[in-house]
Amino acid sequence: MVDQHSVEWDSPLFRSTQSQFETVAKRMKMDENVFNRLRWPERVLVVSVPFRMDDGSVRVVPGYRVQHNDALGPCKGGIRYHRSVNLGEVAALAMLMTWKTSLVGLPLGGAKGGVAVDPNPLSRQELQRLTRRYTAEIINFIGPDHDIPAPDMGTSAQVMAWMMDTYSSVKGYSIPGVVTGKPIAIGGSLGRLEAPGRGVVYCIMEAAEKLKWKLNEKITVAIQGFGQVGNAAARKISKIGCKIIAVGDHTTTLYNEKGFSYESLQQHVMTHQFLKGYPEGEEIPWGDLITLKCDILIPAATGGVITEENVKKLRCRMIAEGANGPTTTEADLILQEQEDIFVIPDILANAGGVIVSYFEWVQDLQNFFWSEKDVNQRLFEIMQKAFHEVYERSLEEKVRMREAAMRIAIRKISTAMLTRGLFP
Ligand code: GLU
Repeated sequence: MVDQHSVEWDSPLFRSTQSQFETVAKRMKMDENVFNRLRWPERVLVVSVPFRMDDGSVRVVPGYRVQHNDALGPCKGGIRYHRSVNLGEVAALAMLMTWKTSLVGLPLGGAKGGVAVDPNPLSRQELQRLTRRYTAEIINFIGPDHDIPAPDMGTSAQVMAWMMDTYSSVKGYSIPGVVTGKPIAIGGSLGRLEAPGRGVVYCIMEAAEKLKWKLNEKITVAIQGFGQVGNAAARKISKIGCKIIAVGDHTTTLYNEKGFSYESLQQHVMTHQFLKGYPEGEEIPWGDLITLKCDILIPAATGGVITEENVKKLRCRMIAEGANGPTTTEADLILQEQEDIFVIPDILANAGGVIVSYFEWVQDLQNFFWSEKDVNQRLFEIMQKAFHEVYERSLEEKVRMREAAMRIAIRKISTAMLTRGLFP
């Protein structure tokens, strides 16, 4: 079976991520040469990945790894398994990683990888064979000192373990630092799993302080996505006492004005894997969660969910972007005019994942592991500092949070590129 293989830049996410960069860069009057270079990735690898299914047949799927920029250090970014993955989407996500690592001050550049496959129907063995062959195909492109993958949508700590094992087996010795987001048993970091969701909530806490909100049971929250990001965000936000009135994953979306118990949702997901069948709460259409009346909206599933069509119907007061690229450029232009909605942009809100990935990589390279308390404390310090920088910059330069975040990120990369100069 050969799956559709389309090598196309032209994805909506690439167009919107590139044009968002162009708009901000023009306003910043940045160096023309740096501008031209940053509009496109530095390196792109397209591979075709054959893997054997349990019935003996061979399936071939397209895979990608894109390195957008390495001016600040080795490239870093996740690997996505999803049916709709294409080159443009991966390139856009790689660009977002460059902004993200720069914004929060990590000595890393931006990359992303992906395979156009729906992992859900695959058996564990099929998933393992796919992962090992994809890793083999990109083996010379990645490495602990030049490009370090991590989990993203559709991949997990186990997938990272297979990647690490494949890489190490071929090289002939154990190299844990080649990927992050690994299981603890093979050099993963404590706190990595919850880090993206935790980081989202740290940002909400800082924002609430600035906006003089009290985070208690009167604050209602709607969370789209109950994977790694949404789940950990739900846990932390319910722990600080806010009321989760809506949750959704790809199997169902649920609304309950009295509020959900996180523990009971988690119990259900542990047994049934997904939210489908959870007994308390009314089932609503997936898209309706976005426009529910609530205080805080956390889109933590996939990109492009806040669109030109629904943006004017938003009834939240704060958006914390747990997913990458949840707001389209067209929607963002409209959102910028809506002074009553405070937006914490993706490159800030969900940076917790890559921050603790950075910690994991440092721990692997040093063979010296930290306590969970240390990891969380350091994560908090970096997120808090980044939030304040963005907030102050948005006040000083009279721009919204997203633009302020991008200006900070782009300026640092531009300085690094100009300082390094041009080869040859
Ligand atoms: N996939 C995550 C992100 O989009 C984490 C990347 C990483 O840890 O390298 O930020």
